[in-house]
Amino acid sequence: MRDRSLLLEVKELLRRYEIIPSKRLGQHFLIDEGILDREVKYAGVSAEDTVLEIGAGLGFLTRKLAERARHVYAVEIDRRLCQVLNDILSKYDNITIINADILKIELPPDVNKVVANIPYSISSGITFKLLNSKISLSVLTYQWEFARRMTARPGTKCYGRLSVMVSIMADVEILERIPRIYFFPPPDVDSAIVRILRRNKYSNIRNFKIFENLVRRLFSFKGKTLRKALIMILRKSAGKEEALTFINKLEKEGYPIKKRIFELTPSELINLANMIYSEGYDV
Ligand code: SAH
Repeated sequence: MRDRSLLLEVKELLRRYEIIPSKRLGQHFLIDEGILDREVKYAGVSAEDTVLEIGAGLGFLTRKLAERARHVYAVEIDRRLCQVLNDILSKYDNITIINADILKIELPPDVNKVVANIPYSISSGITFKLLNSKISLSVLTYQWEFARRMTARPGTKCYGRLSVMVSIMADVEILERIPRIYFFPPPDVDSAIVRILRRNKYSNIRNFKIFENLVRRLFSFKGKTLRKALIMILRKSAGKEEALTFINKLEKEGYPIKKRIFELTPSELINLANMIYSEGYDV
């Protein structure tokens, strides 16, 4: 039998504070003690850590984090939920509740880990905000499909721009699949706990803007060959003749121009972007 105590607690709090969960804000509360405990464990939270939680909701994860971490910053956009958090977490002196939109604030500078069940509608925004910060470890729950796209390998169905951009900045791993029944109210899809370890493996990108644009444009031709896609992309800035000359040069140097876009590895994409950058083409 599943432990129903958190489900009862959610219902009781929502009733007492007269809150109807907002779909738009992705308010699905995780109601399984075991899963919450494992999230804290996956991040290895200890008394040396200052942890950020994004979308603290009713504070079930927050209080577990506070029991282990030195300090917890709990960001929550919904003023009604912040009221609940202030009330039920008042006995902890190591929690700072921040009523704000995570995408609009500067992250507290002393944070070194993030553990959160995030609102799914802003998964990308949160992920890239964290990848562009100094925070090295995050354990986050995402929608299952999004997590699959984040962690997909070249040549597989889910591999795309998200997989490439994430993989150049971090090591990402799905740790668990969480069926939707562990949330209240249950969302339409399952979730996944993902660990993100930020690093700088591909710091050899010579111009990040070119790389970013190239990846975006190439993946709009996902099933085409690199040769075809490059003609389409370079035709405007370099002209068709020059595009063909460039492609021939790539072929002579052993570039995989017959591969399809979704088969290209991140390092192949980086090499290509660097070539395009040194030729001076605009993408
Ligand atoms: N962490 C809680 C709640 C998850 S639901 C739990 O595990 O049960 C996602 C939470 O994110 C909701 O409480 C929602 O109000 C909050 N939220 C949605 N958009 C947000 C944003 N832009 N910034 C901060 N919090 C947000």
